[in-house]
Amino acid sequence: MPDCGSQAPVRRITAKINQSDYSICNRMESVAAEAISQVLLDEVDGCRCPLCQEDMQCYLLNQLEPLYVPVLSEDIGKEMSLQDLAPDLRRRVVSEAYRAVIVVWGSVRHGGERAILHNYTERVVLEALGEALAQEKLDLGREELSMLMADIMNDLPPRYTTSHKGDAFVRTDELVPTSFARVYSAIYHSLHRLGFIPRLG
Ligand SMILES: [Zn+2]
Repeated sequence: MPDCGSQAPVRRITAKINQSDYSICNRMESVAAEAISQVLLDEVDGCRCPLCQEDMQCYLLNQLEPLYVPVLSEDIGKEMSLQDLAPDLRRRVVSEAYRAVIVVWGSVRHGGERAILHNYTERVVLEALGEALAQEKLDLGREELSMLMADIMNDLPPRYTTSHKGDAFVRTDELVPTSFARVYSAIYHSLHRLGFIPRLG
C-alpha cells in the first residue's frame, strides 16, 4: 500500500456496479469486423486466423470514435454496417482497417495470454461510477444505468484490448490509462446531461 503522506483516505461505502447490471453495445464493433473482413478479401499476404482478425478489429476500434447505445430488451435492432455510415466516415474506417491489418501482420501475436476483445475503458468507468453514484445517493435501474454507461463511454477514448493487461495494439501515445480525473469528469457531465443530477448554476 503506497504511503501518500499526510492522512489516510476517508473510506466511503461504495455501491459496486457490475457489467451484469446494465447492457450497452458499441455499434462500431460490427462495423470494424466487417471492414477487416473486406480488407482481407483484397490483401493476400499474411495470417487471417481468428486471433489476428480479432487483433485487427481491436486496433481499428481504438482509432475510431465509439458509438455506444443502451441495449434495451425490446429493441435489439440489426447490427450497424459500413453502408450505414456517412461516406467520409466509411472511407476513414476502410483506410484505418488497411492500416490495422498491416500493423498486426507486422507483429503477429499467436501466443501468450489472451482475453476476449473488450474495451478496457469500461472497467475503469465501472470502478469510478459506483463511487460517484453512492456520493450522489443515486440508485439507478437497469435502463437508466444502460443509458448512463453508453453516454459516458461515448465521451472517453476507447482502449480495446485482447490481453488481460489492457495494452495490446494500442498506439504508444494511448498506453497511459485514461486518468481518473478524466473519467470522473465524463461521469459528472453525463449525470448532468441526462438529468440525473441538477445542472449547476
Ligand atoms: Zn494469425
